[in-house]
Amino acid sequence: MKTFTFYKPTELEGASKLLSGVGRGYLLAGGTDLMTEMKQGVIEPELLISASDIKDMSGIVWNDSGITIGSMVTLDEIASDTNIESRIKSLAEAAISIATPQIRNIATLGGNLCQRPRCWYYRNVRFNCLKKGGDKCFAIGGSNKYNAILGGGDSCYIVHPSDSATVLVALKAKVDIFRNFQRVTMPIRDFFIGPEVDVTRENILEPGDILISVQIPKESMGGKNVFLKAKERQSMDFAIASIAAMAKMENGLITEVGIAAGGVAPTPWHLTSTERKLIGYCVDDINVQAISAEAFADAKILGQNGYKLQLAQTYLERALNLVLR
Ligand SMILES: Cc1cc2nc3c(=O)[nH]c(=O)nc-3n(C[C@H](O)[C@H](O)[C@H](O)COP(=O)(O)OP(=O)(O)OC[C@H]3O[C@@H](n4cnc5c(N)ncnc54)[C@H](O)[C@@H]3O)c2cc1C
Ligand code: SF4
Repeated sequence: MKTFTFYKPTELEGASKLLSGVGRGYLLAGGTDLMTEMKQGVIEPELLISASDIKDMSGIVWNDSGITIGSMVTLDEIASDTNIESRIKSLAEAAISIATPQIRNIATLGGNLCQRPRCWYYRNVRFNCLKKGGDKCFAIGGSNKYNAILGGGDSCYIVHPSDSATVLVALKAKVDIFRNFQRVTMPIRDFFIGPEVDVTRENILEPGDILISVQIPKESMGGKNVFLKAKERQSMDFAIASIAAMAKMENGLITEVGIAAGGVAPTPWHLTSTERKLIGYCVDDINVQAISAEAFADAKILGQNGYKLQLAQTYLERALNLVLR
């Protein structure tokens, strides 16, 4: 590992200023992904800025408009929060499904959302693929069992690795970002970007930007919500496909709905056209099986990942049956 400078600021301003001044500066949260990348030689930071003493990034706050979760809140804190468990079950389900108790104890929500992809060509220093500035995607025509079936365009077929991201897109959450010494708030679905925007990154963060917190609106709570995750191994594994869904009903009519798929695309895949087929409709008129079959019509199979299509359709059908019935 190469030497690097380390700071532990207490304010967002200081952290952001330090990070924007250096080309290879990284924010360090729990370090469970960042340290792995450093050890594997995928990244060689000149500067690490610990976020552990920045108060604005910590804590879980409930208020009239919903809940705000600091980006430095750990996955274990989310999984074991009884209010989250009872009011936003899908988020608790996602958190508890991630990695191991040891990792969840130090891994943070912000780090989970900003973690880098698991495509093994990306993680292996011997492959200088498009994502690392090279001129080729090795997954196309290579080993692509775990790669994307949607949204890869003609360039990069990573799947976004974050389970919390899938749930937060379905819950129509917002993110607060520290940018140019100001707090900027945006829908979380706009936070993530696909390879057609920039193949080298997975979100809109620029050097110096910091993810401060995540807001979940109260409109997304109070109904039914669920997170279903298909894994190859039952412990400590990433999603090969997942579905997060939430729905609210009044007098048999669907009044709120949010659905996203994970493990299938370079971004958490917001199923907006499926949502449009549900919102305002009477639940008895919904053909869940047909809607689920149509939801992934744009899927493009790479060779070894065709099984993901049926898996995603089946998990969507199961999730819709759970939140609509
Ligand atoms: C064995 C194993 C199994 C796993 N299984 C799963 C799984 O099933 N599902 C899943 O979702 N994840 C899984 N993970 C990934 C794990 O959840 C992430 O490593 C973890 O969430 C990262 O959080 P962290 O706080 O340690 O981030 P760090 O490692 O500190 O940071 C990760 C990246 O995010 C950036 N970053 C962190 N916080 C911020 C912020 N606030 N603003 C801007 N940038 C930031 C860092 O600079 C870095 O680039 C697994 C990891 C391991 C090792
Ligand atoms: S899918 Fe993306 S990360 Fe993987 S080899 Fe292709 S360009 Fe690289």
